[in-house]
This record gives sequence, structure tokens and C-alpha cells, in this order.
Amino acid sequence: MVGPRTYRAIMDTMRGALITDLRHFLEERGCIAPTHGPARHLAEFLTKVVATVSHDLDEPVAPIRCRRRPGRKPCPGFLDAQFGADFEIVWECPECGDHGVITHWQNTFWDLM
Ligand SMILES: [Zn+2]
Repeated sequence: MVGPRTYRAIMDTMRGALITDLRHFLEERGCIAPTHGPARHLAEFLTKVVATVSHDLDEPVAPIRCRRRPGRKPCPGFLDAQFGADFEIVWECPECGDHGVITHWQNTFWDLM
């Protein structure tokens, strides 16, 4: 469900690491809950990262463009994303330093493992 925690996650981007629990962006059926605005953009970004990282460990990971627009221009960076120690997904843009962690992505539609 989209609630205060989702918006707090968005606020966390401004402070540093974006720590996100993917469940907070999904409704009961498991679809992306936010329909528009920053929460929707963030949810689409997170699900793309999850699908890309979880899709096949033997294949090279498809590049994911950075979501940032520093100075209103798209960041040219591509994310480094991988599993952390507890199978959380850790991602970082080497260009602008945007970075975060995605937890509780397992068993969502974007869990392709
Ligand atoms: Zn970037």
C-alpha cells in the first residue's frame, strides 16, 4: 500500500541511500499501487531493477539507466546492481552516486528467479 512509508522512502533519496521495501509500492494483487507522480516513477524504477537483477544469474545484466536528472538533464549513468548479503538488491549509479537498497522483492511479479 502507498502510505506514509512510501513517501518517507522518497524523502530518504534526498538524504542519501534510498532504502525501499518493494511491498510498500504494491497493492493486494501485487500490482504497482501508485498510479501517477513521483511514487509511480519510483515504483517503476524499482521493479525494473528487481526484474533485471533477478532474471538470470548466468546472463550479463541488461543496463538500467539512472533515474536522476541532475540540472534537468538525464544522468548518463547506468546502474551497478547486485545482491547483498541477505539477498536484498543493492544498486548504485557510478556517475552521480545515487544509490539504494531494495528489500522484500521476493515473490513479487518482478522476482524472476
Ligand atoms: Zn546517475
